[in-house]
Amino acid sequence: MFAVFGTEVEVQLRDTVPARAQAAYADVGTLLQRLHRELHPWEEGELTALNRSIAAGGTHTTTLDLAALIEASQRLETATEGAFNPAIGALVELWGFHTSNYPITDPPPAADPIDALVAHSPSTRDLVLEELEVRSANSAVQLDFSGIAKGLAVRRVCEVIDRHSVGAAMVNAGGDVMVCSAGRRPWRVAVRAPGGGVLETIEVDRPLAVFTSGNYYRYGDFDGERYAHILDPSTGRPVSEIVQATVIDSNPMTADAGATALVVAGADEWERVADLLDAETAIVIDADGAVSRLDKRRAGRR
Ligand code: ADP
Ligand code: MG
Repeated sequence: MFAVFGTEVEVQLRDTVPARAQAAYADVGTLLQRLHRELHPWEEGELTALNRSIAAGGTHTTTLDLAALIEASQRLETATEGAFNPAIGALVELWGFHTSNYPITDPPPAADPIDALVAHSPSTRDLVLEELEVRSANSAVQLDFSGIAKGLAVRRVCEVIDRHSVGAAMVNAGGDVMVCSAGRRPWRVAVRAPGGGVLETIEVDRPLAVFTSGNYYRYGDFDGERYAHILDPSTGRPVSEIVQATVIDSNPMTADAGATALVVAGADEWERVADLLDAETAIVIDADGAVSRLDKRRAGRR
C-alpha cells in the first residue's frame, strides 16, 4: 500500500515469486513518490515551478511525465470539447480545492473573481511544448492534473511491474483500477458506487482501466449547500447533474479524464462526449440515482 495523490494505491501481483514481487513493489514505491512530488498541484515541486513560469510568461524545462500529461490533456480537452480542462487550476484553487481536508466548510467564492478567471479562457491548447520546453500564450493557465494524474500513474506502475516479468498485476488507486495484465485468470474489478459501496463487479482478462469520478467525496458544504470539486470550465462553477461517472477503457488517461468530463457534460451531453472520447464503456448515475450505460461494442459504434 502506498499513500500518494491523497489516496491509497494498492498493487496486487499474481503468478510470480516473492523475490520478484518485492523488487517490483520497491520500484513502484520509488515511482509513486517521484510522481507525487512532480505532479502535486500545490505542494512545492515540478508542477508548481511550471505554473510559476507560465504565470510569469516564461519558458520552463519540464519532465517527461509532465510533458506526457500536457500532450494527453491537449488531446482530451479537445476530444471532450473542453469539459475536461486541466488548465483551470486557478479556478480549482479559488473554490478552495487546494486542500486535503474535506468537506470544505468555507463559503463559495464571489461571482466576480470566478467570472474574471473564466473570461481569460485558460486552455491546455495555449501551451506550446517543444521537447521538454513549455511556454504558454496565456498567463492565466494554471495546470492542475488531479483529473488525469492517476491515469498516468497507473500506466507507469504497469510499465514498472512489466520490467519485473510478473505474470499478472492489478493497480487500485482508491477505487480507480488498472489491470496491467491478467495472466491465467481474470481479475474481478469492482465499480464504485456513490457513497462507497460496489455498483457492479466486472471480470477483466486484458489490460483495462476502470475509473470513476464523483461529487460525493470531495466537496464543500456551506449553509446546507453542497458544491462539488468538479467544475464546468465554461461557467467556472461546480456541476451537480451527474453524481458519478465511470469510464472503462484500455487507455487509463482516457478513462480518468473521461470520467471527469462526463460529470461535467451533464445529463444531456454525457452520451455525446462518451462517443467523442470513443470510450469503451461509460456508466453514469444521475442525481435521482438512475444508472445509465453506454457500451461501444454493443451499440455497434465501431
Ligand atoms: P477524483 O478525485 O474522484 O479522482 P477526478 O478524477 O474527477 O476526481 O478529478 C477531479 C479534480 O480535477 C478536481 O479536484 C480538480 O482538481 C480537477 N478538476 C475539476 N474540474 C475539472 C475539469 N473540468 N477538468 C479537469 N480537471 C478538473
Ligand atoms: Mg478523473
